[in-house]
Amino acid sequence: MADTDPYQPENIFARILRGELPAHKVFEDEVALAFLDVMPQSHGHTLVIPKLSVRGMIDMPADAWGPYMVRVQKVAAAVKKGMEAEGLTVRQYEGAAGGQTVFHLHFHIIPRWVGEPLRRHGDSMEKEDVLKANAAKIRAAF
Ligand code: AMP
Repeated sequence: MADTDPYQPENIFARILRGELPAHKVFEDEVALAFLDVMPQSHGHTLVIPKLSVRGMIDMPADAWGPYMVRVQKVAAAVKKGMEAEGLTVRQYEGAAGGQTVFHLHFHIIPRWVGEPLRRHGDSMEKEDVLKANAAKIRAAF
């Protein structure tokens, strides 16, 4: 997809937002939705998306950043606590050349433990029961 292409309403995250595709949701309010990444780079890898139809950070209206990042922070705290992580890696990939594969803005919240390397980005599908268990741990930490 070219960086000049408009927002595509059929992208996977838009479909999750509309309830057309399932997700292991951990948080939702009027501003944002958070759910587990199905190809996690570590246990508990969570994505936080705004409820605005924007491709990436450059398209995000300036006045929408504050409310959205408050949710990113809130979810990050719950992911760290729920997964008993020692730290987090927070990432955002912008544009295909930047590594973005789903063109609806999202931040990755990736739990970290000392000495545990990350799995590769978008490498392999996690088992449903593992995702379910990790989502329950994170939901309980808000
Ligand atoms: P990015 O490459 O930054 O656009 O990240 C997209 C992320 O979405 C990748 O880490 C994928 O593993 C993840 N992903 C793709 N499809 C789904 C899905 N249906 N549910 C949850 N995560 C997904």
